[in-house]
Amino acid sequence: MRGVYFASHFHNWYHLAEGEEISRYIEDLALWGVNTLMAIYPFINLQGWDDPEATPAVTQLRKLFSAAKRVGLSTTLGLNNVLFNDAPHELRATPLQDPLGRHGNSGATICPSLPAGRDLIMKTSAELLGKLTDIGVDNLILWPYDEGGCGCSNCRPWGANGFVRMSQDIAGVARSIFPRVKTILSTWTFDTPPEGEWAGLADALSRGNDWADYILADAHEDFPRYPLENAVPGNLPLINFPEISMWGNWPWGGCGAHPLPNRLQHLWNQAGAVLRGGFPYSEGIYEDINKAIVAQFYWNPDSSAQSTLREYAAFEYSPAVADMPFPDAGNVEIRGCQYVSEQITALLKTFAQEELVSILRDFLRDQGAQQQIAFFDLIFTTATCIAPMCASRRSETNCAGNWKVLRGGNELQLEFAHVIIA
Ligand SMILES: [Zn+2]
Repeated sequence: MRGVYFASHFHNWYHLAEGEEISRYIEDLALWGVNTLMAIYPFINLQGWDDPEATPAVTQLRKLFSAAKRVGLSTTLGLNNVLFNDAPHELRATPLQDPLGRHGNSGATICPSLPAGRDLIMKTSAELLGKLTDIGVDNLILWPYDEGGCGCSNCRPWGANGFVRMSQDIAGVARSIFPRVKTILSTWTFDTPPEGEWAGLADALSRGNDWADYILADAHEDFPRYPLENAVPGNLPLINFPEISMWGNWPWGGCGAHPLPNRLQHLWNQAGAVLRGGFPYSEGIYEDINKAIVAQFYWNPDSSAQSTLREYAAFEYSPAVADMPFPDAGNVEIRGCQYVSEQITALLKTFAQEELVSILRDFLRDQGAQQQIAFFDLIFTTATCIAPMCASRRSETNCAGNWKVLRGGNELQLEFAHVIIA
């Protein structure tokens, strides 16, 4: 299971790119060893199927999956108990008991222990799957947290109880539509707390399992200990979910390339011997090199991040530069990004608005459209997102919300650039 997860949201590249571009990029990834593409449908941002953004979001999901199929990859769809925002309040999940703040507590999460809640989850899942029948869904991935979960007494502890029952039910719905679909059960951030989710899942699957095919394990930082020190629940193949695009980097994609060879090697050293693939979490194409490193780990568990860097540099640039030392963003990017955002914030404060417009006009006049967009990304993000976040210590979730509202797509920024230049 040599996957990659395209997180298609916030107007990132996966959200905006066209089918041909996506196909070409996926083909590139396939040549590094990727054989399945994961995507989700953004229920969390939508009111219902009648929301004006609902159909475009279906179109984008279909575009990603069609592009994957065109170049011979399989498709992997994520589902869980986060539904449209217009879901009835009486069916809502109880907020999670999450003392360490690891699981995420947002979106319209539905309690599957309520019969009508369960029905709504199954109905909505079937509706989404039904919109993909002509393309095909090969793997289903069921996700416990961030977003997802229910903390009610009938669902607790979620990962060993409500989540398992709900996942089995959704797998049944998916098999009724796609009889050969494989089911991946994610255990992301299990036991952090509530304790006992891993052991409870192992117990549940030991009593019989004809529906789960893989276990996915990972967490925010190091690889979870449980599946390294115990048998994998159900004795199923184990896959991971390494984060390759957000580590020490904000705005995601706003700091250029983001190579993390040392971190990815560190994570692979922890669990590579027992892994049978996985899905790196990706926010964009700026960390292409990280995808190559992880894809090569999946292809050949004995490969090293350094050997892939050499191969990557030789292929993308020239064999002559293959042995040059490659920068590792894991060592430098945090300082670099903070420096850039501090400088821009300070700069903005020193100018009156007219002066600033005049400086921007001079600067932007000779830039191409892509440079103008990149510049406004940085200005918007810094001035409207990072600075207020630092000032009020608000969470990244709020920041991401600001980002989405303020960006409103590249066209707005181009328009703004043109107003200033005119
Ligand atoms: Zn519940």
